[in-house]
Amino acid sequence: MTSDARPALPAPTDEVVDLCRDLLRIDTTNTGDNATSTGERLAAEYVAEKLAEVGVDSVLHESAPGRANVIARIPGTDPSRGALLVHGHLDVVPADPAEWSVHPFSGELRDGYLWGRGAIDMKDFDAMVLAVVRHWQRTGVRPPRDIVLAYTADEEAGSDYGAHFLTSRHRELFDGCTEAIGEVGGFSYSVDESRRLYLIETAEKGIDWLRLHAKGRPGHGSMVHDDNAVTALAEAVARIGRHRFPVVVTDTVRAFLEEVSELLGIELDPEDPETAIAKLGPIANIIGATIRNTANPTRLAAGYKENVIPGRASATIDCRSLPGQSELLERQLRELIGPDIAIEYIQRQPALETTFDGALVEAMSAALRAEDPGAHPVPYMLSGGTDAKAFSQLGIRCFGFAPLRLPADLNFSALFHGIDERVPVDGLQFGVRVLDRFLRTC
Ligand SMILES: [Zn+2]
Repeated sequence: MTSDARPALPAPTDEVVDLCRDLLRIDTTNTGDNATSTGERLAAEYVAEKLAEVGVDSVLHESAPGRANVIARIPGTDPSRGALLVHGHLDVVPADPAEWSVHPFSGELRDGYLWGRGAIDMKDFDAMVLAVVRHWQRTGVRPPRDIVLAYTADEEAGSDYGAHFLTSRHRELFDGCTEAIGEVGGFSYSVDESRRLYLIETAEKGIDWLRLHAKGRPGHGSMVHDDNAVTALAEAVARIGRHRFPVVVTDTVRAFLEEVSELLGIELDPEDPETAIAKLGPIANIIGATIRNTANPTRLAAGYKENVIPGRASATIDCRSLPGQSELLERQLRELIGPDIAIEYIQRQPALETTFDGALVEAMSAALRAEDPGAHPVPYMLSGGTDAKAFSQLGIRCFGFAPLRLPADLNFSALFHGIDERVPVDGLQFGVRVLDRFLRTC
């Protein structure tokens, strides 16, 4: 045997499992409170170390102690082209071990799945990107255009210490970025044995969180009283909670419904998209929320003693607006609650919508079809929000594209922030192959 036989390079499809597992074992719970959300720093250091091992320099940007973000730039072969931003958040929502089949931070490998909080939201994608970049560095692959990697903190609590911090305080990091890919898109939904939809996120609803304030006359709980803040607030909250806002089908949702109806053989009545949506099974919850503005009451606060009528009462409403409808939604709410209750915005982030066309979309679709000949890429609107909200403020065209092939019987949407969150290992490996192709050709 000669002595110059080198050890085989690790395959990115193998390495992604270890990387994802390591990340799942770092508890990056985002409680919304800086004092108890410090695991992000460890995860950020882990990512920086994995990049450094293969010669990629990165910079850590801490927005508050423990709240760390990692940024790196991989130079492309054609510097005249705009850069592609590839972003993933490192934080996760809390998980209660008592409710889980495995410990949520064990990264356990069982039944072909990697289990743990963050397995699909979104340490899976964080690991895929790392695996691809490490493989490229080891084998000398250079992407066609600059790729900016951003691993962020705080996505799960509004991104103030993550993406919003980076775009407002360090916007030069994203110089030249014209397009971006990130979470909640590129996953499969089985039509039948041979055909799968891949939902690529091209639109996101806006976030309009607001607080209602009712005022009344304070008084004694035993007496006749006709100006009670709790009663006024409760009436307004009930009216909002029961209200159904009118159906509005945007370009994204129309394109989705047309493609899906054809594939599934469902009759699509443009006047009544809800009948078609109801036939979509588990994804009906997601799509159903993207044909109208929504407003769900989530918190109530009033009073301090059983026999004292308080002078004030407040409620929090989680509203989500369709692209361009935030002001309309405010007027609709005003009409519902009347003039006497004040509206205060706690959070207002605009909706996003881009078209499902162009070279980047072609590259995503081609990469999916190459790895899954039964792939049918379709655009869709996410009812929630992501870090794309912050990056789109810089004029970057944002997509949700974290490719994942899923088993037909897996209720994927229920796993987001859900109990027993897990990712299929073969799906993760599929994602690495798709990303590798896509990032080489984008
Ligand atoms: Zn997420």
